Amino acid sequence: MLELSTSVQYVKGIGPRLAEVLAAKGLRTVDDLLHYLPFRYEDRLNPRSVAELRAGEMATVIAEVRNSGLFRTRRMPIFQLTVGQGRSRLKCIWFHAAYLQGRFQAGQMVALYGKVEEDRDGGLQIVQPQFEILGDINEAGGADEAEKKAAASLEIGRIVPIYESTGQGKLTPRWFRRVIRFSLENLNPDLPDPIPAAVRGHLSLLTPREALWKVHWPDAGESFADLQSSRTAAHIRLIFDELFFIELGLELKRREQKAQTGVAFQLNDGVRAAIKKILPFHPTAAQKRVLKEIATDMQTPSPMRRLLQGDVGSGKTIVAFQAAIIAIENGYQVALMAPTEILAQQHYFSARQILERAGYRIVLLTGSLEQDRKRDVRRHIAQGNAQLVIGTHALIQDRVEFERLGLVVVDEQHRFGVMQRLKLMKKSDDARVGTGLRPVTPGGDARRSTESDPEPDVLVMTATPIPRTLALTLYGDLDVSVLDELPPGRTPVVTRSLPDERAPEVWDFVRKQIAAGHQAYVVYPVIEENEERELKAAEQMHRQLRDKIFPNLHVGLLHGRLDADEKEQVMRDFQQGKIEILVATTVIEVGVDVPNATVMVIEHADRFGLAQLHQLRGRIGRGAAKSYCVLMRGSKVSEEGERRLDAMVGSNDGFQIAELDLELRGPGEFFGTKQAGMPSFRVANIIRDRQLLEASKREAAFVISGPNAEISQEEVDRALREMRSRWSLSYGLVEVG
Ligand code: ADP
Ligand code: MG
Repeated sequence: MLELSTSVQYVKGIGPRLAEVLAAKGLRTVDDLLHYLPFRYEDRLNPRSVAELRAGEMATVIAEVRNSGLFRTRRMPIFQLTVGQGRSRLKCIWFHAAYLQGRFQAGQMVALYGKVEEDRDGGLQIVQPQFEILGDINEAGGADEAEKKAAASLEIGRIVPIYESTGQGKLTPRWFRRVIRFSLENLNPDLPDPIPAAVRGHLSLLTPREALWKVHWPDAGESFADLQSSRTAAHIRLIFDELFFIELGLELKRREQKAQTGVAFQLNDGVRAAIKKILPFHPTAAQKRVLKEIATDMQTPSPMRRLLQGDVGSGKTIVAFQAAIIAIENGYQVALMAPTEILAQQHYFSARQILERAGYRIVLLTGSLEQDRKRDVRRHIAQGNAQLVIGTHALIQDRVEFERLGLVVVDEQHRFGVMQRLKLMKKSDDARVGTGLRPVTPGGDARRSTESDPEPDVLVMTATPIPRTLALTLYGDLDVSVLDELPPGRTPVVTRSLPDERAPEVWDFVRKQIAAGHQAYVVYPVIEENEERELKAAEQMHRQLRDKIFPNLHVGLLHGRLDADEKEQVMRDFQQGKIEILVATTVIEVGVDVPNATVMVIEHADRFGLAQLHQLRGRIGRGAAKSYCVLMRGSKVSEEGERRLDAMVGSNDGFQIAELDLELRGPGEFFGTKQAGMPSFRVANIIRDRQLLEASKREAAFVISGPNAEISQEEVDRALREMRSRWSLSYGLVEVG
């Protein structure tokens, strides 16, 4: 008898050696194996007849082998197979496929799957079809004849699951069918359902056992369209199951955070006046609304955990400064963390312009400060003299001691997902939620967290416009505010995509803009893998622009390898207009704010991701003057590259661009592979399954608020136990919950 937790090596047909191959694919237990879902199905109950095939369709055909052979053309060997049904015939060809020689014998039945095309003589053919020789006893079978027959009978006259083959193709779809079937047949029939009955009822969910059987071996009457789109009752149960326990963990985390003691800031008339006083402009309606949401959180005694989402240029900074004033006026300190030193600098400049005038004390803490200076700054912070501390994430997280920390603002955190935040929390040994920051006693010693330490409020700001439903998963532990309005007077950036040959025109245009008193960026891609070489290219580009193309202008260079002083100098010069053209790598991607810059030329634009292009473009169009973004492209641009450029030319809307980006790249890539911080899913796909994601969030909240008339304490406990074990297995986050 197999349990879900049994190692795959005890499944018949898998030994220790194959178990290792499977483990490399993340398939360790019977449970993993059973969640290795078919990526498509073949309708071998109602296969298409050869006579009715049409060019252009994807089709499954079952037919008899007539003849086959290898042809050597001048360019390559081509293997050709002809199959037939009565008098109809169909040709199949495979390129470079000498290995198929001798595989087919006349009279065999084969199942073929692929795209039907017209061949040169007006007949039909399938190029490179996937195939299975039916009743191929040697491959299909177990030990004895009866078993072989049984295995073979799984392959015709029914809807057949097709699995992605793996292990260098040794583990074929047929092999998976066999071991998965065996696992299902020998699985302990007492499969408890960790999802409470009431939840199952709300969504008419199948039992786990039923779902597992039917997802692999659908009933004959199952809708083929539903199968292919993962919308059968069986799929829905398994997808919901996965999402539900993730949401349950997030929901619980959220409630625990809410239950902690934070600071209840006062928002009296004095504080209100202080907030208004610093405003250099009228806030937009969205800024007012969002500030109100933040202020409301800050007034309540539970710690704020809020995400502020707003497209580039929507004006997040000033909202953060206003929140900072609430904390400072209440006698607390504020930490503002930025992902890069340049951005920290940038915030420091604006904070001094806007806040220092009003008498607030601000310090900058960056890695490039001299040791002595750093020590001074740290002392100011520990003694409570510094009211607003601005620095990079790394630096502030690294055990800065505050006298009385009340608010943490994390800027441009667009590369961090929920899993990463949770992991960070786990790491920080005093488990200070989300920040790793620890308040200290007035005496100045770092103290372990105790009941009496209030948790600081946390505001996370991101410029990645994540579609709302995805924010549920990525930031499921946070409340979300959205700045969905740009400050007035902005004209949308005019974007064009031009081939490299037209560079001279572009430089002329840049010259004219500068003559009119504006400034320009020229952005050069530097991608990690080729960093050295590309940096050289960027430097060379800088020299050429400076010496040959714009000899009468000031052309600066900014990239990540400059040391901090140099960076600061360059940024300041650009800000003050001493540099007219700034050649830069993507270090300027986040946050840099120079409203007088109205032109951005992006070299090799097709090599940038869509989100990145949008971020870059967000550096211009920040003032009242009309701005221009020119996307330069070389002669060879991939199809996807073209689509990205088209999208940029066609839209200025971050949400629209994000949706398209997500569609082009899929969720894993969209959020950045390594740093995704996305839960990894076995069966769910958060784009396809948005609605189930929402349902699972709703149901998770329902279960946590139990027990009630519909749901018993025992069921709640069982669901939570299951959630904990899954979180610890999948994410190594034992403490969640
Ligand atoms: P982001 O949301 O990308 O961080 P910023 O906070 O840097 O945007 O704001 C972009 C620019 O818009 C800044 O120059 C800022 O001073 C300006 N700005 C922000 N809010 C307003 C407003 N309500 N009216 C006019 N200008 C504004
Ligand atoms: Mg910003």
